[in-house]
Amino acid sequence: MDKLWGQAREELQKIVGADSFATWIEPLRLTGVSEGTATIACPTRFLSDWVARHYSNDILQVLDRIEGPVQRLNFETRAQTARQAAAPAKRVAAPRPVAANDDLAAPLDQRFTFENFVVGKPNELAHAAARRVAEGGPVTFNPLFLYGGVGLGKTHLMHAIAREIQTRQPEARVLYLSAEQFMYRFVQALRERTMMDFKEMFRAVSVLMVDDVQFIAGKDSTQEEFFHTFNTLVDQGKQIVISADRSPGEIKDLEERIKSRLQCGLVVDLHPTDYELRLGILQSKTDNFRQQYPGLKIAPGVLEFLAHRITSNVRVLEGALQRLFAFASLMGREINLDMTQECLADILRANDRKVSIEEIQRKVAEHYNIRLADMIGPKRVRTVARPRQIAMYLSKQMTSRSLPEIGRRFGGRDHTTIMHGVKKIEELRSADHSLAEDIDLLRRLLEA
Ligand code: ADP
Ligand code: MG
Repeated sequence: MDKLWGQAREELQKIVGADSFATWIEPLRLTGVSEGTATIACPTRFLSDWVARHYSNDILQVLDRIEGPVQRLNFETRAQTARQAAAPAKRVAAPRPVAANDDLAAPLDQRFTFENFVVGKPNELAHAAARRVAEGGPVTFNPLFLYGGVGLGKTHLMHAIAREIQTRQPEARVLYLSAEQFMYRFVQALRERTMMDFKEMFRAVSVLMVDDVQFIAGKDSTQEEFFHTFNTLVDQGKQIVISADRSPGEIKDLEERIKSRLQCGLVVDLHPTDYELRLGILQSKTDNFRQQYPGLKIAPGVLEFLAHRITSNVRVLEGALQRLFAFASLMGREINLDMTQECLADILRANDRKVSIEEIQRKVAEHYNIRLADMIGPKRVRTVARPRQIAMYLSKQMTSRSLPEIGRRFGGRDHTTIMHGVKKIEELRSADHSLAEDIDLLRRLLEA
């Protein structure tokens, strides 16, 4: 089979030219010929669709000439083959290495499904929007723009969307890739003079998903190309899903026109996790780990402890749990609080960075352009009183200080004044969208 394919490849290269050959034919493998049907293995579905549409005749002719009657091509994608081979084992171990270079689309991580995504207050909107887009149907928000800090589940949701669409509509061409890969493809196409192919390839997708789009900020020609691809697809009513580590408006060195197009659809953020969500995620991951380490015991209170103490991001939380299980299984011990503290000392210390009330006051004052002294002072005008209440609210949320202690640091105010301020902001928060955004931004700045 290899010899036959080797010969066929040589002829195909002459027919289609070196560039197209390298892009489209090189990644293929002939795996069998029987009863007039040649089976060809393809790394991705996207590639097989493309080759089937553009090169079927060439391949058939060449095989027919060398091998005798071949009338049909049957494309098998690696994903299918892998699924068949790997079906019995449930994977909970480390993620697969990302994106072999000859893949057009990045491979999807098997674990990043909607079922494995734990929903809580901080991510429920993003989750709902992702679900809606994944259901297909009429394109309602285009693009869907997901943003949030590192490790909060953007890539997880993107993969879940891609997988779900592909399951519901097997014929849809879903192209998922990182902005970095987009740039890499673009530069490669420039170098190899295959821009026509590049453009056509992107413009033939039904759903385009670009992860970590902040990466192309400041990369001018890549931005330009991205903008054109984006517009063409939107005009054709194709769904686009984008992720970034901040909102379109906050991405520096991104062209204004791109910013405004990105804001045209639905922009939703993944908020920093709260205690309940972290606990939920820990419980769900623990269930997975239990299958990998059967018989391992975990003492009550350990997960709660971790949810309290590791607040940075979900990736760190997962890593901590993984280490804990590995350690416990090696030592043949139960996972209890003592062992947790010993085994995760470094992670716990890194998460220990506590924000002080002074820092909060300073950041909030800076953000609202008021004097730091007014945080503590007696002024009651709204422009000063409101930021002061926000600082009180953040102090209650982000530090472990009691209300009387907080009161003392706000110029010796009574604890009921603090309580009132905190309540006020809680109320406003749910009614006033821009205030809620301000608070999230401040919190992110303070946590950074
Ligand atoms: P991002 O792309 O936002 O940096 P990822 O999507 O890579 O973050 O998430 C980091 C890790 O945390 C992944 O292993 C992911 O499965 C996990 N994760 C994040 N949020 C959740 C969630 N809500 N439920 C389950 N796992 C999550
Ligand atoms: Mg990511």
